[in-house]
Amino acid sequence: MATIDDVISKAKTVAEAAGKKTSEFIEITKLRIEIAEQEREMASIFEGLGRLVYDSKKSGEDATSLIDECVDKIDECQNKINDLKRQIDEYRFTLRCKECGTPNPDDALYCKKCGVKMD
Ligand SMILES: [Zn+2]
Repeated sequence: MATIDDVISKAKTVAEAAGKKTSEFIEITKLRIEIAEQEREMASIFEGLGRLVYDSKKSGEDATSLIDECVDKIDECQNKINDLKRQIDEYRFTLRCKECGTPNPDDALYCKKCGVKMD
């Protein structure tokens, strides 16, 4: 027969698991917002770059160094986005297969590597 301690410790485990899920969700949401910001910044640099090339052609002025700067900034944004996406993957791929140990997405029904049913 279960004692009061069993009940309490079970309730605590569930609460802890729920807490972990919530903070994970918040972290992923934060990362998604950061990605959206980076993508917006990247789009505005692309736009500026287009205008820069156009103006440079029209006026005949050399804009090479400014163009290089834009290209660097776009690469920087892209790297940040890749890094943020990798961080999201790390949060999502937290379920490990009990057979082969491969990390699987939280909602996976079967292991993507060995095909064993996930719990
Ligand atoms: Zn597996």
